[in-house]
Amino acid sequence: MNKGLKALEKKVLDQGQCAACGACLSLCPYLRSWRGRAVKLDDCDLTEGRCFSFCPRTEVDLDALHRFIFGKGYEDIETGPVRRVLMARALAPAGRAQNGGVVSALVDLALGEGLIHATVLTERDGELLPQGRIARRREEVISCAGSSYAAGYTLEALNRGPWEGEERIGVVGLPCQVLALSRMKASPLEKRTPVDRVELVIGLFCTWALDYYPFMKFLKARFGDRQISKMDITPPPERFLHVTAGEERHVIPLDEVRSFIRPSCQVCLDMTGELSDLSVGTVEGEEGWNTVIIRSPKGEDLLRLAESKGVLETRKYPDHKWVHLKEASILKKRRALSALRASGENYLILSPKVTDEILREVGP
Ligand SMILES: Cc1cc2nc3c(=O)[nH]c(=O)nc-3n(C[C@H](O)[C@H](O)[C@H](O)COP(=O)(O)OP(=O)(O)OC[C@H]3O[C@@H](n4cnc5c(N)ncnc54)[C@H](O)[C@@H]3O)c2cc1C
Repeated sequence: MNKGLKALEKKVLDQGQCAACGACLSLCPYLRSWRGRAVKLDDCDLTEGRCFSFCPRTEVDLDALHRFIFGKGYEDIETGPVRRVLMARALAPAGRAQNGGVVSALVDLALGEGLIHATVLTERDGELLPQGRIARRREEVISCAGSSYAAGYTLEALNRGPWEGEERIGVVGLPCQVLALSRMKASPLEKRTPVDRVELVIGLFCTWALDYYPFMKFLKARFGDRQISKMDITPPPERFLHVTAGEERHVIPLDEVRSFIRPSCQVCLDMTGELSDLSVGTVEGEEGWNTVIIRSPKGEDLLRLAESKGVLETRKYPDHKWVHLKEASILKKRRALSALRASGENYLILSPKVTDEILREVGP
């Protein structure tokens, strides 16, 4: 069976299942990103390729991958491995931080303390096109703060570099991106990219991401050339997209943008960036605060350092919010597995026990 670019094209790109993570880009002469799309420049005859093996939408054994990353299988099926969950906010947040500014503050701290020397983040250009960039200084971290709700080939920046010497690297990414990154780490084909020097992975919560082009067209039709400085999605039961265009804040019902959700998000199992050192999302009903799930000893050490240096203020996570978050997470898994079953194309290798547990309330 082909496990190279041909198979990637047939199973993922042609099916509209690309998650826009960027893991397959700038690895070889055949695939490039061009204005937010993965474009094949030429045919490749390899029967096995990194592009296919890193992709978050090709066959992946989650149990084996969790074992590789955390030293234990895929057991914590609700939200992935959890050492501690807490509410946090940055005491001096970056100006345009999305919520509590925890992500930017932790990245800045890790750079400042020399835990990492550089980090892969996502920035938006003047046209709001999200793309991976390498940040080494505080100003660069701050210029990437805030969320772009379109997916944007972040990991291409990891593959492309340029990297200076033996830099230790951090990566901030969506769940599909941290899945791809974990596959890069685990892949026997991986030799040339700097993935072995990735020392810190911060996952972002994500229910879905939008397809850049149709979403941009929608925004242009609504707001013309007015500059969009911030977007935010309010949690249920409100379900609105808030867009700050020029000086004004506009409220758009989420149903008006749902048709721009990337098809590959419908089959994504992960809402909380499970394969990371720590994951960060919003706290529903608490503006300016983040939910932080600490997953690894490295994540724990960084969080403790941030607390001790007064970089973050933290609070106990309310029990009822934790129950709610776990429900939302498992719901995403159920939706994904049901969609995969209906499509007959299942890229996930999960034990029958895990599948049964996730699908318990969905039925056969
Ligand atoms: C597409 C998308 C969907 C999301 N969905 C949810 C959700 O359903 N529930 C929830 O609780 N939280 C969600 N989030 C996460 C949330 O918006 C915040 O990123 C998170 O709470 C961290 O806030 P902060 O203030 O610490 O971030 P900041 O300090 O502002 O840092 C944000 C970081 O996000 C990175 N980033 C921005 N856009 C992207 C992108 N498109 N791809 C990859 N990285 C990006 C930047 O590199 C930056 O470093 C989503 C984020 C994105 C990008």
